[in-house]
Amino acid sequence: MAAHRLRPCVGRLFGMGPELGSGRRAYSAFQAFTEVLRLPSKQLTKLVFPLQELHGHFVPGSRPDLHLNIFHPSLEDIARAESFFTASARNRIEYLTSAVRLDHAPDLRRPEVCFIGRSNVGKSSLIKALFSLAPEVEVRVSKKPGHTKKINFYKVGKHFTLVDMPGYGYRAPEDFVDMVETYLKERKNLMRTFLLVDSVVGIQKADNIAIEMCEEFALPYVMVLTKIDKSSKGHLLKQVLQIQKFVDTKTQGCFPQLFPVSAMTCSGIHLLRCFIADITGNLKTTGFQFS
Ligand code: GDP
Repeated sequence: MAAHRLRPCVGRLFGMGPELGSGRRAYSAFQAFTEVLRLPSKQLTKLVFPLQELHGHFVPGSRPDLHLNIFHPSLEDIARAESFFTASARNRIEYLTSAVRLDHAPDLRRPEVCFIGRSNVGKSSLIKALFSLAPEVEVRVSKKPGHTKKINFYKVGKHFTLVDMPGYGYRAPEDFVDMVETYLKERKNLMRTFLLVDSVVGIQKADNIAIEMCEEFALPYVMVLTKIDKSSKGHLLKQVLQIQKFVDTKTQGCFPQLFPVSAMTCSGIHLLRCFIADITGNLKTTGFQFS
């Protein structure tokens, strides 16, 4: 592929001027997505539905355990979802505040989604990719050892708040676990937790901290597999099947469909935006099929 062919397209997707009015901005987001729609079908699938593209490497029907179609919105729905993530005067997308304790968190008016994962999993890169239609947004990164880890809140118009949880390691300090735990347990407007797993290495010991928390608090959560551009197809398929098996057999609250993404090639980002717009109640897509 592809990366070299997708990049100019994605570049155009991201290259919209901040001066446009809201109507035009929504229109230009749609226009940008039409660039994606012009890709040859194989490349479009790889960019927009990466799990589907991987599935294409199996004998048809041989892996029904890969739940591809639980959330499978139309391309039109995906194009509509882009407008929620497109910054304009009427749809302000901005960093709101940071908190070390839940009582410092902003109020509960908007629905919230949070992103959680161990350090280096690619969380800041993913959030930057999700916000690439709002290039003014400054995604906060605090990686210096000894610096207090904070929960960062981003306002996405009047629609929802995106919350970036501090990255954790295997030996997460107790106060840090307390902070994350309290947030996950008590945040009333938390609609969905996105738990990031590095697709190159699969589920690690440290990831279990977050998995156990989500399971214990019976939170609805989703597994997002990061950095999918880094592995060979064979390695990625192996990891995806392993993680899918884990989700199917060892979890209760995890959404059965995996979301593979690459912040580098933008693969899976449009689908994730659409999913967020849907589960925060902002976009009624035709994408959900529960069986
Ligand atoms: P965080 O600690 O979870 O916020 O991780 P970062 O977003 O800072 O990413 C950690 C490292 O992985 C950085 O060197 C990124 O450039 C790299 N990275 C993140 N996402 C991707 C991706 O999708 N593809 C590739 N190839 N590298 C990535």
